[in-house]
Amino acid sequence: MPKYEFVAVDFDGTLCADAFPEVGEPKALVISYVKRLAEEGSKIILYTSRENGTRPLLDEAVEFCKAQEIPLYAVNENPGNPHAAKNGLKHSDGRKVFADLYIDDKAVNPLAIELFSAAEIIAPELQWVSAVIGPNLRQIAETLTPHLWRAAAYMRAIMRDAR
Ligand SMILES: [Mg+2]
Repeated sequence: MPKYEFVAVDFDGTLCADAFPEVGEPKALVISYVKRLAEEGSKIILYTSRENGTRPLLDEAVEFCKAQEIPLYAVNENPGNPHAAKNGLKHSDGRKVFADLYIDDKAVNPLAIELFSAAEIIAPELQWVSAVIGPNLRQIAETLTPHLWRAAAYMRAIMRDAR
C-alpha cells in the first residue's frame, strides 16, 4: 500500500514551467518525484484547469505526461474516490478532485501558515538580538536556532504577498 493512494498533480508551474497557454519546459525533479510515487503504487491524477477550447490545451497537457512517461490514472476526476459511493454520490459529483496528496505550485500547506505564526513571534526577537549583539554573535544565534531561523525567513518570503 503506497503512502498516498491518490496523488493529484497540477500541470502549469508544477510538471512544467508556467508558460500558459504554451507548455513550458519540463520540471525534471518534479516529474521524477511523481514517477517514483507511481512506481510505489500511487495513482496519479492530472489536476489542471486546462480545458480543450479553440486550442486543445488539456490534450496538450495529457500528451506531455505521455511523453514524460508519467502514468496517469485519471484526468480531473477520481473514479476511485472512496467517499463518493458511501455518501450516495457519483465520483464526478465533487468539484474538488479527491486525493491524498496535492502537488501544486500555487499551494500553501496550512501547517506552514501555523508555523509562520510561531516564527513571526520569535523572528523579531532574534532580529533584535542580532542587531544588538552584532554580526559575529548573530552567526552564533543562527547556528543555535537554524531551523527556526530558516523557517522564519522562508515563511516571510512565501507569505509576503498575502499580508
Ligand atoms: Mg499551477
